[in-house]
Amino acid sequence: MDSQDFREAAATAIDDIASYYDNLDDRNVVSTVEPGYLRKLLPSEAPVEGEAWADIHKDIEGKILPGITHWQHPGFHAFFPCATSFPSILGELYSAALSGACFNWICSPAVTELETIVLDWLAKILGLPECYLSTGPTRGGGVIQGSASEAVLTAMVAARDKYLRETVPLEQFPEGSEAREDAIAHKRSKMVALATTATHSSTKKASIILGVRFHTIAVHADTGYSLTGPVLAKTLAELRARGLEPFFMTATMGTTDTCAVDDFAGIVSTLKSDPVHPAGTPGELWVHIDAAYAGSALVLPSVREQVSISLIENFHSFDMNMHKWLLTNFDASCLFVRDRNWFIQALTINQAVYGNKASEGGLVTDYREWQIPLGRRFRSLKIWFVLRNYGVKGLQSYISRTLKLGEEFADSLKSRPDLFEILTGPNFALTVFRVAGKEQGKSDEEVNALTKAVCEKINASGRMWVTSTVLDGRFAIRMVTSVSTTEKEHVDRAWKILVEAAEEVVKA
Ligand code: PLP
Repeated sequence: MDSQDFREAAATAIDDIASYYDNLDDRNVVSTVEPGYLRKLLPSEAPVEGEAWADIHKDIEGKILPGITHWQHPGFHAFFPCATSFPSILGELYSAALSGACFNWICSPAVTELETIVLDWLAKILGLPECYLSTGPTRGGGVIQGSASEAVLTAMVAARDKYLRETVPLEQFPEGSEAREDAIAHKRSKMVALATTATHSSTKKASIILGVRFHTIAVHADTGYSLTGPVLAKTLAELRARGLEPFFMTATMGTTDTCAVDDFAGIVSTLKSDPVHPAGTPGELWVHIDAAYAGSALVLPSVREQVSISLIENFHSFDMNMHKWLLTNFDASCLFVRDRNWFIQALTINQAVYGNKASEGGLVTDYREWQIPLGRRFRSLKIWFVLRNYGVKGLQSYISRTLKLGEEFADSLKSRPDLFEILTGPNFALTVFRVAGKEQGKSDEEVNALTKAVCEKINASGRMWVTSTVLDGRFAIRMVTSVSTTEKEHVDRAWKILVEAAEEVVKA
């Protein structure tokens, strides 16, 4: 394919993409292909001779799209959204064209510098405390990771390194000595990472990968599935009584099941008065805030106040996925740290081949020292395009619109207490509900079965897709209204499908 062929092929591809969005609502949300469908349609070997674009192109519609579940469909109310937008797609296009493994500043200065700048912009747009800015007082800053899972792993590596540095004293155990190796190995066997039963499983996965102990704190409906200060204090005391050393905790803004927010004020107060390692002293608990989905709502000042975001100046790292709810396509997980040295000290490995004058001069950021992989893509470009094309006002109005849709849907549920019971929400455009039944004397098992039947029925319509969860043994449907293509008419349509399904199931 030469540049002229590319021009022509790209024109057809762009035209396809625009038409895909124009006609998205005509498709079913979820793919209905059978497992293994594609193997039957594709040859078992790669072609020996190159094929013309026209032949490749026709297989997108014919062979690939039937196997696509349409995450941008206005009837997609499942999980959390996986955002995109036209400016973001354009950013991805340029990023692919300028492809490089830009791990050091010199590998493409614009890649590093734009990332630092747009993440400072984003930190300000989200109202994060100044300590998370690259220009802030503690030399913090942001780095784009592939996913919230990579972000929590990166934070946990840094937290482990910081804890060991602070609690295995160099005077007693000199650098490079066998005594230090032994002391660190012993301590590592006692270190424990914390999360709650509502925390996303990525924190547990990070603990498994790092080989540290993992402890889950139970949270229930009585606290709205959020972690409180007293529960944390009790957990820390219990773990220490068993000889364990808590070093890391994920607190969440917007849990996956219900979008609960942990009690930041309570956590801060517990950690400040911690009897063993009070916050701000060596060995303090590293608190990572996972705001993967709901963090986007911080574009609204009212949400910042609601969750007391200013309190995260007491914590250590904060991560949100622009690729969930902020109009930027996967992958754009924005991880902020209060002191960049925590990452750099834990993740810098020097190898002669990567040495260069700029890095050695100490005047530049080399993002390979802030992440697990070496190479990195030009991801800041799509963020830059989105922030510029929408502007702060555009982002705010999009988030407000989707929150309002969530409230309207919850109001509809409330208007039919004979059919539905809300378990949580609306929180950040997520409402979790089930079929009503308690009043009619139905058991939890009966209500679970009815709710499951309704869930299957509405999904079978092809017009919408919801997913489910189980809260304290109660099967529940999660309804999310934050996909960018979803408008009031689509939520109204979903409501109609839901009522018809519930009436049928309950009557049967
Ligand atoms: N944290 C929360 C609260 C989530 O809801 C999710 C996924 O939905 C994740 C983390 C994991 O996100 P990622 O796929 O970016 O690793």
